[in-house]
Amino acid sequence: MTDGHEITSVEAAAYTVPTDGPEADGTLSWDATTVVVVTARTRSGVTGIGHTYGHECLTGLIDGLLAPRVVGIDVRETGAAWEAMRSAIRNLGRPGICSMAIAAVDLAVWDAKARTLDVPLHRLLGGCRAEVPVYGSGGFTTYSRDDLVAQLAGWVEQGIPRVKMKIGISPADDLARVRAVRAAIGADTELYVDANGAYDQVTALRLGRRLVEETDVTWFEEPVSSDDLPGLGDLSRDLPLDVTAGEYGYHLEYFKVMAPSVDVLQADITRCAGITEWLRVASATTKPFSGHTAPMAHVHAATAPPHLRHLEYFHDHVRIERMFFDGVLEPVHGCLIPAETPGNGLVFKEADAERFRVR
Ligand SMILES: [Mg+2]
Repeated sequence: MTDGHEITSVEAAAYTVPTDGPEADGTLSWDATTVVVVTARTRSGVTGIGHTYGHECLTGLIDGLLAPRVVGIDVRETGAAWEAMRSAIRNLGRPGICSMAIAAVDLAVWDAKARTLDVPLHRLLGGCRAEVPVYGSGGFTTYSRDDLVAQLAGWVEQGIPRVKMKIGISPADDLARVRAVRAAIGADTELYVDANGAYDQVTALRLGRRLVEETDVTWFEEPVSSDDLPGLGDLSRDLPLDVTAGEYGYHLEYFKVMAPSVDVLQADITRCAGITEWLRVASATTKPFSGHTAPMAHVHAATAPPHLRHLEYFHDHVRIERMFFDGVLEPVHGCLIPAETPGNGLVFKEADAERFRVR
């Protein structure tokens, strides 16, 4: 008995937005970001939206493979919709773009469910906090020293007491850039670095010790490849800071295997198959838990895990979310505070997005 709440359509559109300057980390450079927006509609006239960041090919997977499996399911049965999608992609492979496609649809279905029930999504998910801490994140290796310092100091001026920068150029360059940032943000701001797997274990150990002693860095993300679990585990034991990873996790089993090797487990709701799986990942570890990028996709779910440390307030995605949605939250004393409007509180600005549409 669906009472008119069955899903009647699921549609995806892809938009590629140029970055506001050249961007790179320790192992990759890029000049644009593609966001895929999913709209799910029900017979009763409710619309839900979800989004992920990936490749425009996601629209083919969503429209061609996932949508037909989800249409007809009662929107209140988010678990049934998720299972239908999981079984549909069996032969294509769970890690990678299939899980990103599921994520965007799952986020849209959860939004439509909350709107159907006329409650804010965080109320539906059983939040245990009203405010979600964030850390400012960007500090790309392509930035000049002045631009790097200005961006990170800007977040601190906004009241965000935690900031993260990219490293992985060379240990000497990294140290000089981190020192410049530390001098600008003062001693009271938490300072994080992310090497995106640029270093081998010995180099990461030597650099990590100096980052702790000379600049009071407290978070070293992917000091080595996140595929090197023994290396992450050794560094976690040998360095007096948090060694973190998890952004390339697409399913629960990956995170269960990784968790013992890191100090903080990161997971990206737009990659690991949406709210449904992200909350399972959170429940599967006692390690501190942190959301990776895409703050507006995470914020409602992030109210729920008791051991959530924070969300990443990532420059590229903050910029796109402001361009594409009304209802985007701005940090207040370093936290995002989900609104009391129904659903995820976002309204897709389709007309504004249209000039970036690629599929
Ligand atoms: Mg990272």
